Amino acid sequence: MKVTVSGGFWSKKRSVISNISIPYQWKVLGDQIAGAPRSNALQNLRIAAGESTGTVQGFPFQDTDVAKWLEAASYSLRFSVDTQLENSIQEAIRLIGAAQRDDGYINSHFLSKEQQEKQGIPDIEIKDRRWEDLKWGHELYTAGHLIEAGAAHYAATGKENLLSIVCKLADCLVQTFGKEEGKQHLCCGHPEIELALFRLFEATGNASYKELALYFLDIRGTDPAFFSMTDSEKNDEMRKWLDADYFAAHEPVRKMRTPAGHAVRAVYLYEAMSDAVFYTGDKEMKEALFSLWNNMVSRQMYITGGIGSQGWGERFTIDYDLPNGVAYTETCASIGLFFLASKMFRHNTSSCYADIAERVLYNGLLSGISLDGTKYFYVNPLEVVPETADARQDHMWVKKQRVPWFGCACCPPNIARLITSIDQYLYTEKDGEVYFQHYAESELFYESESFKTVLEQKTDYPWSGDIYITVKAFEGRAVPFNFRKPSWADSFSVNVNGKPVEKVSVDKGYIRLERVWRKDDTIKLSFPMQVKFMYSNPLVHENAGKTALQRGPVLFCLESIDNTENLSTVIIDQKEAISVEKSVIAGCDSIVLRTKAYCEQPFDQDDLYSQTAPERRKIDLRAIPYHQWGNRGECEMRVWMRTV
Ligand SMILES: [Zn+2]
Repeated sequence: MKVTVSGGFWSKKRSVISNISIPYQWKVLGDQIAGAPRSNALQNLRIAAGESTGTVQGFPFQDTDVAKWLEAASYSLRFSVDTQLENSIQEAIRLIGAAQRDDGYINSHFLSKEQQEKQGIPDIEIKDRRWEDLKWGHELYTAGHLIEAGAAHYAATGKENLLSIVCKLADCLVQTFGKEEGKQHLCCGHPEIELALFRLFEATGNASYKELALYFLDIRGTDPAFFSMTDSEKNDEMRKWLDADYFAAHEPVRKMRTPAGHAVRAVYLYEAMSDAVFYTGDKEMKEALFSLWNNMVSRQMYITGGIGSQGWGERFTIDYDLPNGVAYTETCASIGLFFLASKMFRHNTSSCYADIAERVLYNGLLSGISLDGTKYFYVNPLEVVPETADARQDHMWVKKQRVPWFGCACCPPNIARLITSIDQYLYTEKDGEVYFQHYAESELFYESESFKTVLEQKTDYPWSGDIYITVKAFEGRAVPFNFRKPSWADSFSVNVNGKPVEKVSVDKGYIRLERVWRKDDTIKLSFPMQVKFMYSNPLVHENAGKTALQRGPVLFCLESIDNTENLSTVIIDQKEAISVEKSVIAGCDSIVLRTKAYCEQPFDQDDLYSQTAPERRKIDLRAIPYHQWGNRGECEMRVWMRTV
């Protein structure tokens, strides 16, 4: 299967990432962007390689920023020829290779500390030695991202230089960890290595990588005491969020039923569990995986596709606890949910997984990056009052505007690697059939034993629900094409060669059209995009009595710059018509919604409380896509609104 994004929404997004974000991020990694927090990521590798002096700075997982950037940059080369970028990629690979030790080990933090110790420089703590701090050290997590970069670079370019470096690294891990006597019987405090080893197994066919991934899953949670709070942490009010569940190590993975702990850790672990089920058919693991998935998306997920509602511990809390102003919803957690959703389809060909993936794509993912591609959100709240965000301690994570970079910069290159690889998620092949998962202007080349075809897709999705497919070539017997009927679509129509198809079969959410296709056959799918009032389950306390606006897969929000101050006083009148207009927000294509609403007036007197209800006045309301908020200066933003 080969997919080319040929235009439309994702082509534009990808161009911003490719032309602006990736060169920008390279400069940040090299500490060349004034005003951005120092990354030190490339400098750390130079120190570890012995090419520079000084001490490593930043987190022990600083190498992962380079690794995820390498993934994004490698994908970018497939659709954008760029010699300068190619040179930067090769320089990063050269540095990683130069830092690698003979036994395969790479991690600039631990290697630099090792060098310091050899030079007799004091103040090296035990936790700075290799494999001495698997709870917090992120060594295997970092190795995982390097391994993913190697597999991605090889798949995108066919070059084996980074792949061979990371295979040597993975071989080092196979030598160090495992059930055999003399090896370490531990797993990492931050899952990631597991899914990466599965990916390296897929790239190389080397079964020892798969076996090690399975081993790491098997021992996870078998020794919760290792990941539990220390005595001093137990007496620290803020550290109590960092118990074994934070590390997704509170119970064996096959016993897990409800998502818990640090959201990114959790969702990366569930991805690996999905890989394990795929490769082994492990029934117990599958039962756990499906329970975790169902509980997560039906009780602990925001309407944006965000997960992990609490800032302390960046974690899940309890069912239906989804506050809007202090929503943490790390961008990486949404990205992990997208990856997991895409993998779940392997176990059950239901459209419910791509529906969740789509919710992430057009909302909680894109909110993480500015429309110009240079600024980022780590935290993605659903309402912001700038003055409150400044004043309240419990809003300490909320940024009123996207920022140039972070000290812990996991999110920016994660966004870049997903958007530059979006072509890989548009279609899926399963049991010899083609599934259309996400609609986007693209070309599909597919060949199997029973047929081969070239399909061209034209659409203005997500702004329009009309999709036009032309069969450019087809050879073979009668086969079905499966088109996802998005969960937001309450009606649809299908035309083949200009004629309506009356009896359409829909199987697990996919419209199934089967025939012997011929060159120049055309298919038109229409999913009418009415503006919908969305509601939360009343068990979500914060959203009781409130509604949000959604059109197609795109969630909308209000910004005070278009409306009024004090957006909490806005009351939507559902009897009023809502108009849909094409627009441009900060230079980008958009759709805005207009309607009339009420807004409550502050009391005339300086009273805080009164026996008289506030007066209401009618206002013109303008809503913009949630993912485009915060691109026109600092102002209030709100998704959920009161309604009459
Ligand atoms: Zn992140």
